[in-house]
Amino acid sequence: MIIKMLEKATSEECQKVKELLIKKNFQVKDISGDTCCVFGVVGDTSSVDTNDIYALSGVSNVTRIQVPFKKASRTFKHEDTIVNVGDAKIGEGTFTVIAGPCSVESKEQIVGIAKDVKASGALLLRGGAFKPRTSPYSFQGLELEGLELLKEARKETGLPIVTEIMSVDLIDTFVKDVDVIQVGARNMQNFALLKALGKVNKPILLKRGLSATIEEWLMSAEYIMAGGNENVILCERGIRTFEKYTRNTLDLSAVLAVKELSHLPVIVDPSHSAGKWQMVEKLSLAAAAVGADGIIVEVHNDPEHALCDGNQSIKPKKFAEMMAKIEAITDVLGKKLR
Ligand code: PEP
Ligand code: MN
Repeated sequence: MIIKMLEKATSEECQKVKELLIKKNFQVKDISGDTCCVFGVVGDTSSVDTNDIYALSGVSNVTRIQVPFKKASRTFKHEDTIVNVGDAKIGEGTFTVIAGPCSVESKEQIVGIAKDVKASGALLLRGGAFKPRTSPYSFQGLELEGLELLKEARKETGLPIVTEIMSVDLIDTFVKDVDVIQVGARNMQNFALLKALGKVNKPILLKRGLSATIEEWLMSAEYIMAGGNENVILCERGIRTFEKYTRNTLDLSAVLAVKELSHLPVIVDPSHSAGKWQMVEKLSLAAAAVGADGIIVEVHNDPEHALCDGNQSIKPKKFAEMMAKIEAITDVLGKKLR
């Protein structure tokens, strides 16, 4: 960390900053120029809040050299993390496809879709049982009954299940019943939930928050990892921008940024980013091309009558066609899809 003092800062102010850092057991190197004091702070500064330094009088600028996330950072672990779930090795130079409806609606629906997506090469089944909806009057999911139906679909197809958790009180149930626990965009900074998930022995699929920077997203992964659970899969699902044509703006460059900054696997959600089923195939191909470790995509047998997100769900037939095209891209990249 580099701290630059104001030109007009007094030597007492400079000394005060220096002493405070020494008291916190950092080595402080004086790298002052002719016009102002500059300090280089040596040590692990991830616990230092830069705002606390700015609060001291005479401070002009504080610049971090190291990222504030440690466990999630590639600086501290060079090799890619591989998350093993069922037949999938997410992050191992493969392209893992997670598919299924936005919400579990009935046994026929979830089992039927599970069979269809499995036949086309999906390795995991998604389906929401507890749904975070903007309106309290919208369908909230089948909740525990939905979880039971997901388990039936898993029993019939062998596909591991991915589903969203919304509150800490359901953690024991999810640990018992679910293969990958999803933290949705709206809960990305629910720190109590993240801390609690740090204590469980199940992979966590952490979606990027609606307006989260890449650093904030990685700091949320850090919350989970700091608790001891290092099986985190990141998911870029589009961010909110000024653009209204699509539901969100898919930030594909975030995949590249995350690959550079972190060893964690990162997948893309083309459904929630576009909000339009017509865009799902192309965005999925783009996700494969950009180097994502997979996608999580909404597939529904009857999107016109879906209880949630039918407009962004593709039908099983379209999914099968899309998988063939994805395979053409993963072949070129030397990545396995199935
Ligand atoms: C979902 O996957 O169904 C979902 C609600 O996604 P997000 O949290 O990204 O909006
Ligand atoms: Mn959805």
